[in-house]
Amino acid sequence: MAKLITPRSEDYARWYTDVVTQSRMADYSPVKGCMVIRPHGYALWENMQRVLDRMFKDTGHQNAYFPLFIPKSFLAKEARHVEGFAKECAIVTHTRLRASGSGDDAKLVVDPASALEEELIIRPTSETIIYSMFAKWVQSYRDLPLLINQWANVVRWEMRTRLFLRTTEFLWQEGHTAHATSEEAEEEARRMLDVYATFAEEYMAVPVLRGRKTEKEKFAGAERTYCIEALMQDGRALQAGTSHHLGQNFAKAFDLKFQTESGDWRFAYNTSWGVSTRLVGAIVMAHGDDQGLVLPPRLAPVQVVVVPIWKGTDPVERILAAAEGVEGALKRAGVAAKLDARDNLSPGFKFNEWEMLGVPLRIEIGPKDLEKGSVCCVKRTNRAKSFVPTGDVPTAVPALLEEIQRELLEAARARRDASTFAVDGYDEMKAKLEGPGGFLLAHWCGDGACETAIHEETKATIRVITFDGASETGRCVRCGRPSERRVHFAKAY
Ligand SMILES: [Zn+2]
Repeated sequence: MAKLITPRSEDYARWYTDVVTQSRMADYSPVKGCMVIRPHGYALWENMQRVLDRMFKDTGHQNAYFPLFIPKSFLAKEARHVEGFAKECAIVTHTRLRASGSGDDAKLVVDPASALEEELIIRPTSETIIYSMFAKWVQSYRDLPLLINQWANVVRWEMRTRLFLRTTEFLWQEGHTAHATSEEAEEEARRMLDVYATFAEEYMAVPVLRGRKTEKEKFAGAERTYCIEALMQDGRALQAGTSHHLGQNFAKAFDLKFQTESGDWRFAYNTSWGVSTRLVGAIVMAHGDDQGLVLPPRLAPVQVVVVPIWKGTDPVERILAAAEGVEGALKRAGVAAKLDARDNLSPGFKFNEWEMLGVPLRIEIGPKDLEKGSVCCVKRTNRAKSFVPTGDVPTAVPALLEEIQRELLEAARARRDASTFAVDGYDEMKAKLEGPGGFLLAHWCGDGACETAIHEETKATIRVITFDGASETGRCVRCGRPSERRVHFAKAY
């Protein structure tokens, strides 16, 4: 059986790794910095993809696919963009290997004769290659807006690895759009941020703050970066999605122009936006407990596990038949149900295993339930039991799942709110950061140098300048210069 999970209170980082590996969501790979997403983790990602994909299509986007390789000269065309990614690029320089030596001494070496004339970068993000194609496709204002999404893998070289949160290769989607006006691009960037926020709250059950990044924290090459930020149980923030208004920066670099109705030529305005498999890590950290994963019902690959219970002289066949009947009724009602009829394992073992895997609801059916014509439903979150007449299962269980979904969001919101503090002094801020962490609402003068100093001195960054933050005059928490509002600081993943 699985090893014990390190309690959160003892070592949160270790707890996270234990949960991810023991629930068989992911594993370390032979390639340093890269992970293997195992079926239980991938099924969750597929459910997330399915919902997001529908939301993108409902807002007018189409999927397409662009190359994994980007010519080095492309990356260099937008100065701030290349600066932002230069330090984490994987570069393809050659195209062949050859055998060197012979017999037992034979080795495979890179064939120096196969050096590429122009090196290729493995995409860290695809703005450059995609806008080079947009430039070909867009001629007239009638070709706009162009609304494209790509599901892909990207590579950003990392020295430290944390499963799902920080890996050299990861999976994501990147939306890329072109518009005739800055206003339309702005509207698009904000619309997609709202899509992400809706997904985070209504599906992941993770409450998020919406707002803008500071100049220092914005995407390399963007005019403005919007983000959603969530708080994990250890008081650290996690950036859950970003949406960028790119202005005309990339359009100018790639000559992405269109002819207006009156016949003159103008550069288009672009947006890009993305979420990645790091959202899987966010779900683990937002809801998990010392027994393992806790998955939100709307995304859980298995929503309900049905466990028949019998011993000795109990009518095994009738119990199993009832369990199969419940599984069938749930499936017909559109619930992802799974019957666990393995007869070589005790019910207690099965309960632990399904709890570890985060299945939101367990249905137990034993001889007494059979007699009463009901089933026992147990919530993963708090093990609260309720008895449901067997005939009501197709309506009562979906309602219970929705109740769990709501409770998860409410609990996460209550935790976040209890970990959000207004701080006025720098010492107070430092003490909070060394202690419980959380979102610290503090005044900031607006100076990037001050922001950098705060980061160096406390490890905290400005996570977000929220859209709904109240204006309030005060003094910068570090330098004392005037400030017009508070911003959210936190240590972050
Ligand atoms: Zn300051």
